[in-house]
Amino acid sequence: MSIGEHLIDLPPMDEFNQQLVNNVHPPAWVNPEPTGRYNLVVIGAGTAGLVTAAVAAAVGAKVALIERHLMGGDCLNVGCVPSKGMIRASRAWADVKNAAEFGLHIPDGIKTDFGEAMARMRKLRARISHVDSAHRYKGLGVDVFIGDGKFTGPGTVEVAGNTLQYAKAVICTGARAAAPPIPGLEDTDYLTNETIFSLTELPPRLGVIGAGPIGCEMAQAFARFGSQVFLVEAMHGILPNEDHDASDIVHQSLTRDGVQLLCCGKDLRITNTAGSKYLSVDSHGQHYDVAVDEVLVGVGRAPNVEGLGLETVGVEFDKRSGVKVNDTLQTTNPKIYAAGDICFPLKFTHTADAMAQIVIQNALFPHPLGLGYASTKSLIIPWCTYTEPEIAHVGLYEKEATDKGIEIDTFTYKLDEVDRAILDGEEEGFARVHVKKGTDTILGATIVASHAGDMISEFTLAMKGGLGLSTITGTIHPYPTQAEVIKKVANAWRKTTFTEGKRKLLSKLFARMR
Ligand SMILES: Cc1cc2nc3c(=O)[nH]c(=O)nc-3n(C[C@H](O)[C@H](O)[C@H](O)COP(=O)(O)OP(=O)(O)OC[C@H]3O[C@@H](n4cnc5c(N)ncnc54)[C@H](O)[C@@H]3O)c2cc1C
Repeated sequence: MSIGEHLIDLPPMDEFNQQLVNNVHPPAWVNPEPTGRYNLVVIGAGTAGLVTAAVAAAVGAKVALIERHLMGGDCLNVGCVPSKGMIRASRAWADVKNAAEFGLHIPDGIKTDFGEAMARMRKLRARISHVDSAHRYKGLGVDVFIGDGKFTGPGTVEVAGNTLQYAKAVICTGARAAAPPIPGLEDTDYLTNETIFSLTELPPRLGVIGAGPIGCEMAQAFARFGSQVFLVEAMHGILPNEDHDASDIVHQSLTRDGVQLLCCGKDLRITNTAGSKYLSVDSHGQHYDVAVDEVLVGVGRAPNVEGLGLETVGVEFDKRSGVKVNDTLQTTNPKIYAAGDICFPLKFTHTADAMAQIVIQNALFPHPLGLGYASTKSLIIPWCTYTEPEIAHVGLYEKEATDKGIEIDTFTYKLDEVDRAILDGEEEGFARVHVKKGTDTILGATIVASHAGDMISEFTLAMKGGLGLSTITGTIHPYPTQAEVIKKVANAWRKTTFTEGKRKLLSKLFARMR
């Protein structure tokens, strides 16, 4: 059966979006005829579902993958990929605006074209999309079904009029933008991550609600493109989960780009009058009424648990935290697993990928057959907010260590003492590492730097491989690179191991050698 009746409209429907849709929701797709029982039926073809299906098929399992909208899920279509494409363009615009520092004086009245920047993003997203395409997955040996997946009874899932039988099933249905209970929001035509990447014209004034990673990344990007941006946050400052001195650096950078932060916001309400939207909010004892053309809501994610028939198969879930799983990613139905945003608080593409690997091991290679259970407990998960500068983190924060009663030593090295950062004009930031007290065992690290997301992997690898700071001090880093800050912060630890007693002893020794 063709799925022609489910035609996707992803504005603007230009050649790039058409190419994307042809890949990830082909209009002429014909669902296969299900034959026999599947080893795995996977519902949802975002990162978690795609990786689960591809790896399962690669090891020889019979797999069905069900997607109701766009294969690739949030990451490819309305998340990481379009946001990073936009951020790259906005960085280029900011570099040009700030080029005078480098002796490049741009005349007034230079032409900017937001529409072209967005077209570039759509072109690159379409180019990347073939990797997640229905035809590629068919080629991998996966039965791809387009339609709504729903559990209908023990061992059965229904999709587009077909009944699929499974030995094991995996729920990978992800999450969507949460709609917070803000008075007036319901009556407002607002943007979320599902619609903002379809803009072709720059909103002159943009209100962003929520100063978490999505809010901060988008606020800075739009400010750099030239929107007047108001960033409203209920808590103090931005990126409240990060170390305050780290988020302060990003806050200052956003302010320089023209973002106005209204934090500790109380009594936020939205009104619509005469074509404008108004955000009314009290921030730090002052009342603000700001007129905006668009409002972006970026406060939290709601798991896609509805309509799946979870009750029918005894899978427990919560409307806020999603499907309940144990450390092996098994739900309350032992034949059904879950992976990705649907069941995990750290909602990242790389986490969804890692969880898919865990599901494969536990669902397809049960204990007596194979490798022992894989567990989320052993995951070391880094993350990054892609502002300028970026903030990346892995492992414990100082506060978490204190809460858990773990004694730590902390070392911080600032980027303004790193030659390459000075030469790049990117010297606001630092590397910070927490080690188990009196040892070089790394428990956590934060980096604030222009490309902190690339740099954090050195700490992640060290933690995963059980390598301490002494290994990092003994590792040659090319000069001059910003990543030298990692070696320098490790050297800061090394210096503490060279005590006054040791120095005095050596002085005596050297005196004898003279
Ligand atoms: C703006 C934004 C920027 C982001 N940037 C980053 C980043 O830079 N780095 C990073 O690591 N993460 C980022 N993320 C998070 C990342 O996108 C998600 O963590 C990741 O996509 C989760 O993958 P998933 O497979 O769990 O879910 P999803 O990608 O949400 O996929 C779930 C899929 O299931 C389908 N589905 C749902 N219900 C059904 C059903 N009943 N039947 C059939 N199909 C169904 C959906 O249509 C969807 O395609 C970002 C997110 C957003 C919103």
